Amino acid sequence: PYDVLVVGGGPAGAAAAIYAARKGIRTGIVAERFGGQVNDTLAIENFISVKETDGPKLVMALEEHVKSYDVDIMPLQRAAGLAEPEKADNKHAGLIEVKLESGATLRSKSVILATGARWRNLNVPGEEAYKNKGVAYCPHCDGPLFKGKHVAVVGGGNSGVEAAIDLAGVVGHVTLLQFDTELKADAVLQRKLRTLENVTILTSAQTTEVTGDGTRVNGLTYTDRVTGESKHIALEGVFIQIGLVPNSDWLKGTLNLSKYGEIEINSHNATSLPGVFAAGDVTTVPYKQIIIAMGEGANAALGAFDYLIRQ
Ligand code: FAD
Repeated sequence: PYDVLVVGGGPAGAAAAIYAARKGIRTGIVAERFGGQVNDTLAIENFISVKETDGPKLVMALEEHVKSYDVDIMPLQRAAGLAEPEKADNKHAGLIEVKLESGATLRSKSVILATGARWRNLNVPGEEAYKNKGVAYCPHCDGPLFKGKHVAVVGGGNSGVEAAIDLAGVVGHVTLLQFDTELKADAVLQRKLRTLENVTILTSAQTTEVTGDGTRVNGLTYTDRVTGESKHIALEGVFIQIGLVPNSDWLKGTLNLSKYGEIEINSHNATSLPGVFAAGDVTTVPYKQIIIAMGEGANAALGAFDYLIRQ
């Protein structure tokens, strides 16, 4: 069995594996796609101490760093279930089981869950084609790339309105499109939004297409749900803010999740299950960023080590 088994090979999982291996304990990492969301990222300008990099470069560096330690890497494997130590079974007493989709079972004294999250897509024509070419999901990451330009934010919940307020300070103009008849964000955010002069709010607006010139986004088409009319806005960027979905479906019923499906953790990154820790975008950590996921992964590994020496 492992001392620490990490599930997920994004920034959080990679950091957790390195921190665990550096303690000289038996460490494994199982990941469906090594690198996680970083694979889908073009410019990265907020990974502190590296002025500029891109996703594939950072994924390679992550992989090299993990491989320089004695870590069992199990790529292209999907975890499908987690089971508490079976107290009745003497042979595996005290071990946590991770069941893989392939049918195999891995056992470990502690587990770190770092399965990340994914942005909810609008699923309209143009969205996929112009990803990283004007279609963006993260204002903290990509806001500065649109300095002085006209962008849209799709989504009128807290994240959409927060994004619009954030972007209004960086870009030239923001058009916020909300499908519903009214914004759903907290009143205090809505009040703040309405004080901003370079923001236009459109409600009852259903985004139907992201348009482009073949290389970059040049606008967005929406249907006015009151009149039924289809309208086009010329702009250079579209931020889609309709939700971030944690990859925690396979954990439902085994440990405490928030109402959004995020794994609840404490300051040591411990979950509600003894010996099970979690880190990164799949958890209740409020901000989802590479550098934060790495710090959380390190914290979870140290939490797991602390747990192990007390067993
Ligand atoms: P992830 O990166 O999501 O990794 C999750 C890992 O778990 C993957 O290896 C995945 O394959 C694996 N996994 C999932 N489910 C299972 C399962 N059941 N079994 C086994 N393995 C599983 N952040 C920044 O700081 N700067 C940026 O510029 C930036 N730009 C971004 C651009 C885009 C397009 C996107 C999508 C995100 C961007 N982010 C950026 C956010 C950043 O990528 C995430 O915050 C970060 O990757 C989270 O790391 P993580 O390890 O928690 O999860």
